[in-house]
Amino acid sequence: MRKIRVDEADRVPSPASVRRPLADPLGAEHVAINHYELQPGESFAFGYHKHDDQEEVFCVLSGTATFETEEGDVDVGAGEVVYFSPGEFQQGWNRGDDPVTAIALGAPKDAWGGEVRRECPECGERTPHRFDSENDGRTRLTVCLECDAVTGRYSV
Ligand SMILES: [Zn+2]
Repeated sequence: MRKIRVDEADRVPSPASVRRPLADPLGAEHVAINHYELQPGESFAFGYHKHDDQEEVFCVLSGTATFETEEGDVDVGAGEVVYFSPGEFQQGWNRGDDPVTAIALGAPKDAWGGEVRRECPECGERTPHRFDSENDGRTRLTVCLECDAVTGRYSV
């Protein structure tokens, strides 16, 4: 048994105002656990993405998250849970006026395969992206695979 306070866990760079990975401080080996706080307009994810081998679950604690999915937009409110299977594209946003707080679970924990698509201003469309970093890993970059443009820069 291990118990921690969510607000004592370290934050990591994210499109959300606050993302705190909880699996490592809890010692969980097989499930990724992230606590998120999204202000209006923010997203959980760096882009519209899929994981090849990872299942993902979002449990919304407050506010309403809107997920862009292959089947259209889906609102997930406080007290609701949404599941995405491996291979399904999705991106969750806070399109409301109130903050969104949520817990996201991913299993298996260290499954890196997948694809991220973001709007690239240079290409003028949504393109596949890769990640890079600078400042000794403290800043996370999103880079267009088509033209190499840096389309996003995130730090804590
Ligand atoms: Zn591009």
